[in-house]
Amino acid sequence: MEEYVLETTELTKTYGAHAAVDGVSLKVPRCSIYGFLGANGAGKSTTMKMILGLIKPDRGMIRVFGKHFPQERISILRQVGALIETPSYYGHLSGYQNMRIVAKLLDVPEAQIIETLELVHLENQADKKVKHYSLGMKQRLGIAMAIVHRPKLLILDEPTNGLDPSGIQEIRSFIKSIPEKLGMTVLLSSHLLYEIEQIAEHVGVIHEGQLIYQGTLASLQEKGGELSLEQIFLEMTGQGRSL
Ligand code: ATP
Repeated sequence: MEEYVLETTELTKTYGAHAAVDGVSLKVPRCSIYGFLGANGAGKSTTMKMILGLIKPDRGMIRVFGKHFPQERISILRQVGALIETPSYYGHLSGYQNMRIVAKLLDVPEAQIIETLELVHLENQADKKVKHYSLGMKQRLGIAMAIVHRPKLLILDEPTNGLDPSGIQEIRSFIKSIPEKLGMTVLLSSHLLYEIEQIAEHVGVIHEGQLIYQGTLASLQEKGGELSLEQIFLEMTGQGRSL
């Protein structure tokens, strides 16, 4: 079995003269929660979109479950779930009906719909129209749609963006339970160190398109000695002495 569920090598994407992603080599360990941390515009979404085949890299290699992307794209994507930007749903349909559409496309048995809605604590709101959902409920529905087929890798781009504190807390505790409860690996992005600290044990820090740190948060803290994680990150991103 592969040690890394996802590996990229020197992944690069350039827009005009600007390298949005510049030689990024990610290693996402099996059954981990990997936090992809970087400021707005650092290159997180572009990297995730390349991993999902939504954007073509200029250079570099992507391996998911030990298989090569894009050569084995179909069999890889069957086992990947993703929520990039806002979830797509039909507001005039209920949560359950939205789930049914996705489940049908992915050939998932009906029983798994309720089971999945229970996982994200939406089972009691299943018959409500999605346009009447709160933002947090919509986001949880988006995650439910991404995991209904029980992927081995779940990719979430800024999953708590725009949510209120209780919505953030709900999503956060659910994400934390995923590897153990569902045996999935989670790659999630955030521009907030605090967010990543709460959820992830492995971290990749991207700055101006380049991966400037990868490893556990614990070993980063060890490297930084007396400094707080916040100070370490400030220094790494060039706003102080470099590590
Ligand atoms: P955010 O959290 O703001 O989405 P991010 O880390 O996800 O930030 P990206 O969206 O990947 O960053 O963008 C990285 C860089 O690439 C930015 O400078 C952005 O302006 C640029 N970029 C992204 N998509 C395009 C595009 N289609 N055309 C030109 N430039 C782009």
